[in-house]
Amino acid sequence: MIRRSGRKGTRSGLVVILILSAVLWLSAVSLAQVKNVILLIGDGMGFGAIQYARNILVGPDGRLAFEKLPFVGLVTTYSANQWVTDSAAAATAMATGYKTNNGMISVKPDGTPVKTVLEAAQETGKAVGLISTNTVYDATPAAFGAHWAQRSGSDAIAAQLVSRKIDVILGGGSDQFFPKGVGPGKRGDGRNLVDEAKAAGYTYVTNAAELAAAGGTKLLGLFHPSYMNYQSDRDEVKSEEPSLAEMTAKALDVLSKDPDGFFLMSEGARIDHMAHTAEVAGVVREVKDFEAAVEVALKFAAGRKDTLVIVTADHDTMGLAVTEPFKPDVIRKVKASPEYMALQMKKDANGVLTEESIRQVMADFAGITDLTPAEVATIQGTSKLASYKQGYEIGSIIAARANVASLTPAVRAIGETGGHTGNQVPLYATGPDAQLFAKVLDNTDIARLVAQAMGISL
Ligand SMILES: [Zn+2]
Repeated sequence: MIRRSGRKGTRSGLVVILILSAVLWLSAVSLAQVKNVILLIGDGMGFGAIQYARNILVGPDGRLAFEKLPFVGLVTTYSANQWVTDSAAAATAMATGYKTNNGMISVKPDGTPVKTVLEAAQETGKAVGLISTNTVYDATPAAFGAHWAQRSGSDAIAAQLVSRKIDVILGGGSDQFFPKGVGPGKRGDGRNLVDEAKAAGYTYVTNAAELAAAGGTKLLGLFHPSYMNYQSDRDEVKSEEPSLAEMTAKALDVLSKDPDGFFLMSEGARIDHMAHTAEVAGVVREVKDFEAAVEVALKFAAGRKDTLVIVTADHDTMGLAVTEPFKPDVIRKVKASPEYMALQMKKDANGVLTEESIRQVMADFAGITDLTPAEVATIQGTSKLASYKQGYEIGSIIAARANVASLTPAVRAIGETGGHTGNQVPLYATGPDAQLFAKVLDNTDIARLVAQAMGISL
């Protein structure tokens, strides 16, 4: 009996070893299959932003496109020096696998540059692309394609993106691609990065029609001197900018010509900007624009066995939450972004917004005809602030009327990030090795797992 059970033990041991070898072999095969990675980042797209988008766009029992993906993770986002991250430290973590201080772009806290997944993919011959509805030199795209100690180093970052020969660069921010005196140019060093890019073989486009018509294997598209317009404002300003979905589709056309595969990061940046105002009609519109880009990526990956699609956020903004007394009718009347509303208001001789214009604009664009004296005073109190900060206060007035829960304006005002929170964010994934992401992750794990899946080394 003892000998028989001993032999049985040896046999089952052998079986276990065989199974383990098969599993290891299969996982090695699956690792080799990830030829392309599409990383879609909803900047500031915390759980509350998603809840509002789901409720408004598809109803509480519906699912947004990315919520239908088979693997879901939860991501911690703290930075090296704060339990609440900004976009620079968060993108550095996702791009390099290293924590850094808020404000730093793919360098360690001591300033040492660290390799990004984009650079590692490029080293192995893959094509690479960066897309953002923000400026292309702002924190999230910057941390994948550049290294700088301060996120504000816009001119240096833009130059690095061009000299790194990133195959596709699409978004806002043409101001840092031209020298002062040329168009919207703000560069002090006299360089014309658009001319440099053209000389290096890039096609340069500036609107949706040009983007649609563009060919070639290198593409630079700059659609606004600064941030691209909010979805809420596109009709008002008669925007000719492409949507994030159109930019993502074109990038996939261009990048997929490379037989070695590609890495693409596509960012819905203005979810964050709108969430800072707590005005959830705008948040929902930005999430919808982002969702459409996710659908483009999923369509590309469908039926292929070589493309990993990851959808996540860099951090939560404002801790938005859907409340029991939420009034959707209030936000359905909102026709423009709070910042756009601020820009339509008129000032008196002392530089103070007039009550008359405040009441007119809030009636025209927010459907609010009964502003209280306190609300008028709050808006007048922003008269000397930058328009985006005026938008914060106007957005919060609308949010309060709709019973949207969020950080208070007072807490937002004293935080260095202007209202980010340390809440976890969700991650959704599909494609080969997507299962690696189905757990509680830290944002640094994203870089390591992407590198592992692509077989590249950071
Ligand atoms: Zn933000």
